[in-house]
Amino acid sequence: MNPLDRLIAFYETFPGVGARQARRFAFHTLMMGKDDVTEFSRTIAGIQDTVIGCTSCRRFFAAQGRESECRICSDSSRDRSKLMVVERDSDVQSIERSGVYDGMYFVLGGTMPLLETKEKKVLRSNGLVHIVTERLSEGLSEVILAFSINPDGENTARYVESVLVEPLNGSTVAITHLGRGLSTGSELEYADPQTIKSALENRG
Ligand SMILES: [Zn+2]
Repeated sequence: MNPLDRLIAFYETFPGVGARQARRFAFHTLMMGKDDVTEFSRTIAGIQDTVIGCTSCRRFFAAQGRESECRICSDSSRDRSKLMVVERDSDVQSIERSGVYDGMYFVLGGTMPLLETKEKKVLRSNGLVHIVTERLSEGLSEVILAFSINPDGENTARYVESVLVEPLNGSTVAITHLGRGLSTGSELEYADPQTIKSALENRG
């Protein structure tokens, strides 16, 4: 494969990018100034060393030193009795922006689509079981499932509930859903702070 085709092929692996857009990205890259391309490639080359996954909630954060937990997980003032499970990193940002949640998070890394796809393999269900088991001894009382209000989000909630049956067996931990207050088809990522606030207050 020649270098241009290889670049197009890389862009094509990005979520939501088709063949035509991948070609546009590749040609845009060719048109960028040499300094910009150098900076761009340097940023990509170093990204996995500087931005790491939090060992607790799994979201990505820019580590300043040798810390392994993000700012939220290492904040001792947060309520460790609540664990909110979300699809993506951007959902954490949306909830944080709303300023109405003071508990902990876990980023599942995607959804469990109704139709089987390869995505199942990348969901961090083992990591979730591990964290839930660990938090049980630290007073965990509620797991809040905060997925999109659509068939895939609902299927993901069912999946997570089934995964948590065993670790929560015999405990009094409640599993709640951040469903009510969000309209059908809505995604957390695009919900405004007021909507998130009411969805959180009316969870059940
Ligand atoms: Zn974290």
